[in-house]
Amino acid sequence: MAPTSPRLPAPPKDTPTFSPEKTSVVYVLGGPGAGKGTQCANLVRDYGFNHLSAGDLLRAEQDREGSEFGQMIKDYIKDGKIVPMEVTVQLLENAIQDINGGEGRFLIDGFPRKMDQALKFDESVCPSKFTLFFDCPEDVMTERLINRGKTSGRADDNEESIRKRFKTFVETSMPVVEHFEKQGKVVKVMATKSPDEVYEEVKKAMGQRGFQMKQ
Ligand code: UDP
Ligand code: MG
Repeated sequence: MAPTSPRLPAPPKDTPTFSPEKTSVVYVLGGPGAGKGTQCANLVRDYGFNHLSAGDLLRAEQDREGSEFGQMIKDYIKDGKIVPMEVTVQLLENAIQDINGGEGRFLIDGFPRKMDQALKFDESVCPSKFTLFFDCPEDVMTERLINRGKTSGRADDNEESIRKRFKTFVETSMPVVEHFEKQGKVVKVMATKSPDEVYEEVKKAMGQRGFQMKQ
């Protein structure tokens, strides 16, 4: 019998798809209802960021005809759990690629929410510049979410799902914030005040990290 060559493990991907010189990625984290989406809209307007919400991309994939992941995503979201990272990372990578071939500034809103995603994205898609973290107590977030639930049509803006999302946030997502904090890569903003007041803090944070407003 002819000798067979040993099967090598698939070569690890040692360079990320997008170079951090051309692609600026800022992660935006905070509990559900902390105001990530609202503040991201301000940053898009004033700083020329592109906004990618992991939750929005997952909901779009869930509704896409022929998606093999539709039902799985639906179940995870309703339960406030984190969808397996392969799906979310790939959706984000595709979305970045689709905007100007990935060149420019990107806010990745609501991601990474679990350590495996954080490591995978930084390593294989693009290393992040820093994380903008919105700090907000649960009672304030609950009130905002219940209000939003009246019009959002989201399957997870109800009391039971909200409770589950908080649990996932504390147990699974906060370790990601702590991980980046140890690397000095987190800017924390208190998110209890009005959107305009919070945005003043956000602008200071951006300035500290070398991001200037567009002219
Ligand atoms: N989600 C996920 N992985 C992610 C981001 C979101 O699985 O990386 C799921 C998760 O079930 C989460 C839901 O999508 O509870 C809604 O996320 P979204 O960011 O829209 O909620 P927000 O935090 O903005 O209220
Ligand atoms: Mg959101």
